[in-house]
Amino acid sequence: MTLLGTLLAGEPRALARAISLVERGGPAGEKLVVQASAHAGTAAITGITGPPGVGKSTLVGALVRELRTRDDRVAVLSVDPTSPFTGGALLGDRIRLADHFLDEAVFIRSLASRGSLGGLAAAVRPAALLADAAGYSHVLIETVGIGQAEVDIAGQADTTVVVLMPGAGDTLQAIKAGLMEIPDVLVVNKADHPRADDLVRELRRTARFRARNAPIVKTNALTGDGVAELADVIAGHRSREHGRRTAGRQTAAQREIVRLAMDGLRVRIERLLHGGDEGRAALEAVAAGHRTPESTARWLIAELTGEGGNR
Ligand code: GDP
Repeated sequence: MTLLGTLLAGEPRALARAISLVERGGPAGEKLVVQASAHAGTAAITGITGPPGVGKSTLVGALVRELRTRDDRVAVLSVDPTSPFTGGALLGDRIRLADHFLDEAVFIRSLASRGSLGGLAAAVRPAALLADAAGYSHVLIETVGIGQAEVDIAGQADTTVVVLMPGAGDTLQAIKAGLMEIPDVLVVNKADHPRADDLVRELRRTARFRARNAPIVKTNALTGDGVAELADVIAGHRSREHGRRTAGRQTAAQREIVRLAMDGLRVRIERLLHGGDEGRAALEAVAAGHRTPESTARWLIAELTGEGGNR
């Protein structure tokens, strides 16, 4: 079977090979993505970002566990723009996700950086699309670190989750880094921390965050508390967004179809009016006032719709 065939069959090794092909760049990878895109479009793509140490990796592990109880297939793509090594695993992520290593329905992969941020960000969306085509219903894109690259990468997901934890200076750091501009969902992780509620209150007072009107979910990634709620909130946001996007696409499609049909009709109408004796006679009669434009238009429509006999 071709790589596309095994990918679409949901073979995890095929997905790994396909992502490597895309990471290398070049026409073979591009062609595969184009072919796979016809089979993608159903996965929920969630970006998870936030400052280091807030518990993103632990939370991703907990989220994978929750989604697996719902029988979903999950792909986790780890992205570290600051990491100098390519193609390798981020050891920390691997260890935290170790529970899932033997689970065929969980795909875990670190994306290579190819030495440039642009190259890295460029591989994220195609990799997510390939996972989507391979039948993973959820793609979690975990970014490590804090900065513009995270903001860019998060922008490629259906739902962007920003994770913070209680502790001095964190919110300020997040605001500075532009993280407050992007969340669809905000997580206050380490809910077991005594200052967790203070952080929630502080966030609700932050004007820039309030402008986004994003829900805040408190989680304890170690115990799994709040993780089911987080999965529900993500699913809710994603289905609303998806509905909006589908509606937008349908409006655009309708406009295009009507435009093309009108162009085609115009050509045929002109041909009827100018191309034969009956049309020319009708034009002259209307110009001379012997016939109404309305009755002539009705005749044209009848001719075009094949209902000429009912005139
Ligand atoms: P990341 O750098 O954002 O990926 O954070 P990690 O997942 O590596 O977690 C950083 C540290 O916080 C680890 O020692 C975790 O065990 C710990 N941690 C993660 N989530 C929680 C939580 O909800 N409560 C507590 N108390 N510790 C947590």
